[in-house]
Amino acid sequence: MPIYEYRCDHCGHCFEKLIRSDGDTPTNCPACEREDLRKLFSSFSPAVNQPSSPCENGGCPSMNSGACSGGACPF
Ligand SMILES: [Zn+2]
Repeated sequence: MPIYEYRCDHCGHCFEKLIRSDGDTPTNCPACEREDLRKLFSSFSPAVNQPSSPCENGGCPSMNSGACSGGACPF
Protein backbone atom coordinates (compact mmCIF):
# COMPACT_ATOMS: atom_id res chain seq x y z
CA MET A 1 0.00 0.00 0.00
CA PRO A 2 1.43 3.34 -0.92
CA ILE A 3 2.17 5.93 1.70
CA TYR A 4 2.11 9.48 0.48
CA GLU A 5 3.76 12.36 2.24
CA TYR A 6 2.11 15.74 2.05
CA ARG A 7 3.19 19.18 3.00
CA CYS A 8 0.88 22.11 3.51
CA ASP A 9 1.99 25.13 1.53
CA HIS A 10 0.01 27.37 3.83
CA CYS A 11 1.34 26.46 7.29
CA GLY A 12 4.17 24.07 6.46
CA HIS A 13 2.59 21.14 8.28
CA CYS A 14 3.91 17.78 7.06
CA PHE A 15 2.16 14.45 7.42
CA GLU A 16 2.05 10.99 5.92
CA LYS A 17 -1.10 9.34 4.67
CA LEU A 18 -1.68 5.71 3.91
CA ILE A 19 -3.74 5.60 0.76
CA ARG A 20 -5.97 2.55 0.63
CA SER A 21 -8.01 3.73 -2.31
CA ASP A 22 -8.22 6.62 -4.71
CA GLY A 23 -10.84 8.24 -2.52
CA ASP A 24 -8.44 8.32 0.42
CA THR A 25 -6.44 11.21 -0.95
CA PRO A 26 -6.43 14.07 1.54
CA THR A 27 -7.39 17.47 0.24
CA ASN A 28 -7.25 19.52 3.41
CA CYS A 29 -4.40 20.21 5.78
CA PRO A 30 -5.17 18.55 9.15
CA ALA A 31 -3.52 21.48 10.93
CA CYS A 32 -5.03 24.52 9.26
CA GLU A 33 -7.76 23.00 7.02
CA ARG A 34 -6.51 24.80 3.96
CA GLU A 35 -6.46 23.05 0.60
CA ASP A 36 -2.82 23.84 -0.01
CA LEU A 37 -1.39 20.35 0.14
CA ARG A 38 1.59 19.36 -1.92
CA LYS A 39 2.48 15.71 -2.41
CA LEU A 40 6.14 15.17 -1.58
CA PHE A 41 6.81 11.54 -2.41
CA SER A 42 5.28 8.12 -2.42
CA SER A 43 6.62 4.77 -1.43
CA PHE A 44 5.46 1.23 -1.98
CA SER A 45 8.03 -0.56 0.12
CA PRO A 46 8.52 -0.41 3.89
CA ALA A 47 12.25 -0.79 3.25
CA VAL A 48 12.45 2.64 1.65
CA ASN A 49 9.65 4.10 3.66
CA GLN A 50 11.88 5.96 6.09
CA PRO A 51 12.79 9.49 5.09
CA SER A 52 16.48 9.47 4.34
CA SER A 53 18.65 11.81 6.37
CA PRO A 54 21.79 13.61 5.24
CA CYS A 55 23.68 11.10 7.40
CA GLU A 56 22.46 8.10 5.46
CA ASN A 57 23.07 9.89 2.20
CA GLY A 58 26.68 10.55 3.16
CA GLY A 59 26.04 14.28 3.31
CA CYS A 60 26.79 14.65 6.99
CA PRO A 61 30.24 16.10 7.70
CA SER A 62 30.47 14.25 11.01
CA MET A 63 29.50 10.85 9.58
CA ASN A 64 33.07 9.53 9.48
CA SER A 65 33.65 10.39 13.12
CA GLY A 66 30.76 8.22 14.23
CA ALA A 67 28.76 11.15 15.55
CA CYS A 68 25.81 10.19 13.38
CA SER A 69 25.27 6.79 14.94
CA GLY A 70 25.88 8.27 18.36
CA GLY A 71 23.00 10.66 17.93
CA ALA A 72 25.25 13.70 18.05
CA CYS A 73 24.76 14.57 14.40
CA PRO A 74 23.26 18.08 13.96
CA PHE A 75 21.24 16.76 11.04
ZN1 LIG B 1 -1.75 23.75 6.86
